[in-house]
Amino acid sequence: MSTTGQVIRCKAAVAWEAGKPLVMEEVEVAPPQKHEVRIKILFTSLCHTDVYFWEAKGQTPLFPRIFGHEAGGIVESIGEGVTDLQPGDHVLPIFTGECGDCPHCHSEESNMCDLLRINTDRVGMIHDGVSRFSINGKPIHHFLGTSTFSEYTVVHSGQVAKINPEAPLDKVCIVSCGLSTGLGATLNVAKPKKGQSVAVFGLGAVGLAACEGARMSGASRIIGVDLNPKRFEEAKKFGVTEFVNPREHDKPVQQVIAEMTNGGVDRSVECTGSVQAMIQAFECVHDGWGVAVLVGVPSKDDAFKTHPMNFLNERTLKGTFFGNYKPKTDIPGVVEMYMNKELEIEKFITHTVPFSEINKAFDYMLKGESIRCIITMGA
Ligand code: NAD
Ligand code: ZN
Repeated sequence: MSTTGQVIRCKAAVAWEAGKPLVMEEVEVAPPQKHEVRIKILFTSLCHTDVYFWEAKGQTPLFPRIFGHEAGGIVESIGEGVTDLQPGDHVLPIFTGECGDCPHCHSEESNMCDLLRINTDRVGMIHDGVSRFSINGKPIHHFLGTSTFSEYTVVHSGQVAKINPEAPLDKVCIVSCGLSTGLGATLNVAKPKKGQSVAVFGLGAVGLAACEGARMSGASRIIGVDLNPKRFEEAKKFGVTEFVNPREHDKPVQQVIAEMTNGGVDRSVECTGSVQAMIQAFECVHDGWGVAVLVGVPSKDDAFKTHPMNFLNERTLKGTFFGNYKPKTDIPGVVEMYMNKELEIEKFITHTVPFSEINKAFDYMLKGESIRCIITMGA
């Protein structure tokens, strides 16, 4: 390829300051170094995590930065030592990685790679700590090792899942993060059996993906719990059969659910980030076999409080990171679930914008109008 080993100049949406609209800039993208690949991004989508770090209310502001971590693209060139990917491969960059060598990667039970686990503070590449992006020689920070709001990006090869080239990248790009997190929380961790009942707390993108997992598992009842009644209409498309708004009840929501289900749900998945909801999700499962799974990211000072008797009564509490999927090993299989028509992706995509109007995607998310907005590069 003619661009191999060369600096590529292309468009990127740069966040110069916290909370300020992204600015379309021409950036230089350096060639991939050892264990890195350079990817031509074709589609990207916006996730809450991008918005959260862009607002930078809770953490050290790191700007200028190129955000973006849900995307699909094609490998343009590879760096030294990359053996499992080649130019032309269709790929999804992932915010967390799989080095293949650490105890976590060797364990069948973990996806929390020592080397490439999510790191929100890292602004350069692992190999040399340097950014591959610059504007007139001035470095621009990376985000989550993916920085997909750019026509080209450089990613560690351990954070790149090679997928079926037949899969439409404008759809499967959302498999990179939120969808897999919620889906895997149900399919890999809660593991409802056919005919069982599942309660999902929080009906945002992650919670709706957890509902999709419950639907795919053949759950007989999917109880959606949210404080925002606007979420209920949308959630019907995701197989949710009943709704509970904790604000509409005088008694604790655990008790409401226990009464609805003759003692408790078989499985629950918490996708809110609220510690109250986490406790409720645990306490609403049936004794003897109930399993609750925590997905939401709590606040710094939160503490989970429940009576130990709840455990002695044979309820199980679990948590998950990225739905327990190993990014390189398992994510191609999630794409196959879509290709086999088991997994429905289209219903998550509520908006589409050209790259030049990426700030609209932020508006839709901030107003709570979108589940996923696809951003088309080169448009
Ligand atoms: P979202 O804000 O779109 O949805 C959250 C929903 O929860 C909202 O509809 C809100 O009304 C509802 N909610 C809030 N408090 C509630 C309560 N007490 N009871 C019932 N409903 C309540 O968020 P999202 O993008 O779907 O993400 C959900 C959570 O998952 C976030 O905390 C996010 O940080 C987390 N997350 C975790 C992982 C992981 O690997 N564990 C990965 C991605 C996201
Ligand atoms: Zn590893």
